[in-house]
Amino acid sequence: MSKSKELYRRAQTLLVAGVNSPVRAFHAVGGAPIFMARGRGSEMVDVDGKRYVDYLGSWGPLIFGHAPPPIIAAAEKALRLGATFGTPVESEARLAELVRAAFPSMELMRFVSSGTEACMAALRLARGYTGRRLIVKFAGCYHGHSDGLLVSAGSGAATFGHPTSAGVPREIARLTLVLPYNDATRVRKAFRSHGRDIAAVIVEPVAGNMGVVPPEKQFLRVLREETKRHGALLVFDEVITGFRLAWGGAQTVYGVRPDLTCLGKIVGGGFPVGAFGGAAKIMRRLAPLGPVYQAGTLSGNPVAMAAGIATLELLRRTRPYASLARQTARLSAGIGALAAPRGLAVTVNRVGSMFTVFFTDRPVRDGFSAMRSDARRYARFFQGLLKRGVYFPPAQLEAAFVSCAHTAADLEKTLTAVAETFEEL
Ligand SMILES: *Cc1c(COP(=O)(O)O)cnc(C)c1O
Repeated sequence: MSKSKELYRRAQTLLVAGVNSPVRAFHAVGGAPIFMARGRGSEMVDVDGKRYVDYLGSWGPLIFGHAPPPIIAAAEKALRLGATFGTPVESEARLAELVRAAFPSMELMRFVSSGTEACMAALRLARGYTGRRLIVKFAGCYHGHSDGLLVSAGSGAATFGHPTSAGVPREIARLTLVLPYNDATRVRKAFRSHGRDIAAVIVEPVAGNMGVVPPEKQFLRVLREETKRHGALLVFDEVITGFRLAWGGAQTVYGVRPDLTCLGKIVGGGFPVGAFGGAAKIMRRLAPLGPVYQAGTLSGNPVAMAAGIATLELLRRTRPYASLARQTARLSAGIGALAAPRGLAVTVNRVGSMFTVFFTDRPVRDGFSAMRSDARRYARFFQGLLKRGVYFPPAQLEAAFVSCAHTAADLEKTLTAVAETFEEL
């Protein structure tokens, strides 16, 4: 038996399904998870010694690949001074300066320990600031696992959310309106019907959690106009896109300034960090200045702050975004070109260094068209690549990430593995 299988057996007796986050269990593809031992650059190595070119990137944070020396060194240095104090430390302000330099819309911010926390707190703040109840989200966008965000659109034209998880009361789900992504008409209609009750619209400005789906022309602009007109807040969930698409995230790329921004993943340099922030007059409503409560024992943790600082300083100095986008464009175009002559129905969506290979011949522009792609064929694609030492996200509706550590040779190896795998599908 492989070491991974052994560890999986042991873990299953202790951890629910042997994992600490459901996507890791590979349930969607019916396999057993592979336990990793270490990583370096673009590569990770499992406990049985097998090597993989990694496009999972720990689900987004690893823009410099695995174990980048300057980031590891910064974390080690901070760790030797003490892991946590529960008091303010200098590195919190340093990381905040870097975040604000990238995101001028984040005049004031607060650090938390995950993207879930950032989104949950931003929406509580939006409700506290506006004194309103309703939240608008888009089908297929993911904003963490807080109660009000684990909802999907109901049947028919109804937009009031239904729980997608047991344990979420219907009464809470109904406070979230769920609309189709990229549908400006439905947004206008929702504001006509409910405008005075809507506290905030939360959106992934480039969707990554229905697979990669770019915003269509004017979509983000309409969100900005409608929220402004009706006195609601616009919340950009840039947990993935924040330092992935540009220095300054999707709001810089698309030129739309949200009221609040949520960050996570890259901002912690591989450690658990989230952040939310925005206009000072809104952020001042937060405790202890204002009545909206939010707190965290390990928020602003000095080891995580140090890793975040090293990551952002490296990003600011190297500005890798154009070259990352070029590499990713080459890879995604290469995959598309391998599918066409084999008559495989494949649509590759890409924005910057994030991309998704959808098994469908139709354009993917929202959660519904994303769900029409062939998830079982994707699962076989994933397994075929895995066998050949290429690690893609294990499910169809996820983003793959190219990092600064990927080399031309990595991309060549990947395209060869894709070509061989396509032959088996
Ligand atoms: C990952 C993610 C989250 C949740 O972040 P966690 O750190 O996993 O809690 C929220 N929003 C988006 C867009 C994400 O991709």
